[in-house]
Amino acid sequence: MNARAAAFLFFALAVPVLAAPTPPLPQFSGETTLAALNLAMPAMRGAKQVPAKPVPVGTYTWTRSDGTTWQDERSPAVELWRAAQTAGTWADRAGNELTLARAQFAFPTLPYDHASREEFDRAIADPALRLGPRAEPAALAGWAARYAGLGLRGEPAALPINRQRLSALWEIPLADPAARAYAFRFDPNHAGQAAAQAAWFVAIFRVPAAATDAGGADRALRNGFLAAIRALGRFSGVAPDPKARPRARPDAEIPDDARRAGARASIELLDDWWHMDSPHYIVLSDVPGGTAQADRLLGVLEALRPRYAALVPRFPKAEEPTSVVRFFRNDDEFVRYFEGTPLALAVTETAGFYDGGRRELVIRPARKEWGGPEHMESTVRHEGFHQWLHAAWPGVDIPTWFNEGTAEFFESCVPRGAGGSFEWKEQEAAARWLEDLAKNRDANWTEMLRATLLADQATFYNPPHFGGESWRSYAFAYGLMYFLHRGAPLVRNQPWKDVLPTLYRSLYESPRDPIGATCAAFRLGPNGADTAFLEKFAADLRAFWRASSARQNARNAKLP
Ligand SMILES: [Zn+2]
Repeated sequence: MNARAAAFLFFALAVPVLAAPTPPLPQFSGETTLAALNLAMPAMRGAKQVPAKPVPVGTYTWTRSDGTTWQDERSPAVELWRAAQTAGTWADRAGNELTLARAQFAFPTLPYDHASREEFDRAIADPALRLGPRAEPAALAGWAARYAGLGLRGEPAALPINRQRLSALWEIPLADPAARAYAFRFDPNHAGQAAAQAAWFVAIFRVPAAATDAGGADRALRNGFLAAIRALGRFSGVAPDPKARPRARPDAEIPDDARRAGARASIELLDDWWHMDSPHYIVLSDVPGGTAQADRLLGVLEALRPRYAALVPRFPKAEEPTSVVRFFRNDDEFVRYFEGTPLALAVTETAGFYDGGRRELVIRPARKEWGGPEHMESTVRHEGFHQWLHAAWPGVDIPTWFNEGTAEFFESCVPRGAGGSFEWKEQEAAARWLEDLAKNRDANWTEMLRATLLADQATFYNPPHFGGESWRSYAFAYGLMYFLHRGAPLVRNQPWKDVLPTLYRSLYESPRDPIGATCAAFRLGPNGADTAFLEKFAADLRAFWRASSARQNARNAKLP
């Protein structure tokens, strides 16, 4: 074999291995009707509408010059700006994605890149930001680039497509070869389009194949999509979606607030999504026929809420916004909802999740191997507590042992009938482990307790003192909270009655110091070194889990 033949053979072998399969170009068939926008557009084949991700919210504490503080809730301004103008996103399995937006106002100038909603609303009310019918192509291009989070690689170009219906169509060259952006406006003088919206629409596509087949992608989008967009006329025979969406649990009085309104608006244009309201919650879901399930979950959450509050006091001035609960039809959608967020990895093995950044309790579809709907309810009891506490203690850095231990405590309570009462059972697996541990001579309870109390989040989830096994952290924190609520009140002279009140007071006074509050509650001294109190407490905790009689008495005692 000579050198040339060898080289040829190498390429012949190598090429099929190296070439990644080309993702398919999007294809369009049929129509998606957006009655609320008075618009119909070709539907991307195989694509589903993706629910809008809520804008992340963070609580900020500010200090005045006199040293007093106040708090407000802020979000990334660019996300508020996008959310205010987004109409919807559709994606297929090949990774082709279309986002349709209404370009109504340019990005405002703000003092910080995070803004409160009021501050943002004030800023965008500035008439100078409006993108009217005569908006310059450069302004539209700047708008699209900021919206897509990409740079521009040239000037917008007018496209002579669909001219009878569109009064303008600009192609905006974005700096990502896989992205395409088009701004268009309907011509209200065209027959049947008198009711067209005057707004500029911007369609942004992500087409992975466009990176290698730019011409093919342009043709697919121009011929398949742009050529057939139309406005819905008053007489075109398409009525606004008649499906009655608002639903409430029977007999429930539903207060209105911004969060509930926002949650409803977020699914307004989604065909498969529905909502169900209860006095403190709103469920968003795309589970077909899932309303019975939602009704049951809302029943559990509403019944638990006063229990949460009876055991853990709300801080004064804490608001009580509607809590959003979302549950998905399938695993795929659940995982996709977190894609590209810092939680993407954390949610791979969870049955549900309280997403503090978005203020949402997100539930995965019940998996058989996790115990189905019953497991779903125990997940809701656990995550529901995280959600409730987040609102009840605004801006507080919650000690992880307390947050997880209490959530576990609520997870293991079981509703008794439909009357809203609960049975406070021991969590079987945890109790068995704690009992074994209590009987094991070599176990050092003071050290395990100290390590659990002082663990930050990362250490709690990967605890060296428990061989790196997070379930032991949970079980130990559970054993601690169960004892504090059920066993400790029965100990003679109640020597532990100040532990939780001290914790609450310290967190209220210094919300950013979870370790300091924990040290105050367990009298560990300023540097956590003073363990005299902790040793006595650990001895009682251990004695509790060891003695079946003490546990029997605890089971029979009443809870507030
Ligand atoms: Zn948890």
